[in-house]
Amino acid sequence: MKKEDCIFCKIANGEVSSKTLYEDEDFRVILDLGPATKGHALILPKEHAADLFELSEETASKVLVTAKRVAARMAEKLHCDGMNLVQNNGEVAGQTVSHFHLHIIPRYQDDGQQINWVPGKCTQEELEAVRREIVG
Ligand code: 5GP
Ligand code: ZN
Repeated sequence: MKKEDCIFCKIANGEVSSKTLYEDEDFRVILDLGPATKGHALILPKEHAADLFELSEETASKVLVTAKRVAARMAEKLHCDGMNLVQNNGEVAGQTVSHFHLHIIPRYQDDGQQINWVPGKCTQEELEAVRREIVG
């Protein structure tokens, strides 16, 4: 299903042009318009899913396989030194386009980018309380 007025539906299904790196029946992989680094790409499922919660398990299982293939190609062709896979899920997490997408961000020595969080601190007891909250 496509969603009316979803820019990534339009891009994924070829109604709006993009710099496409790869396409198959499930996905289109494009270059991000505002690249964090050279080669910053987005994996877009062709089926609309707003976020990870809406993504089918079948598509979800294929996303990482696609990411692995794109990553290998980037390493070979761009000679990046590493990469970050990022998926912002929900507005609070920084998601700005409500169509699931996985960022593949090649990293280069001294590229000046920061894709980080501030590590917190907690005790073993606090960790155990959270563990129970999740699994209980
Ligand atoms: P988010 O913040 O939702 O995780 O990431 C959205 C990403 O989509 C951003 O990195 C932004 O640069 C990119 N983006 C937004 N609109 C377009 C577009 O029309 N074309 C392309 N290629 N990238 C887009
Ligand atoms: Zn969509």
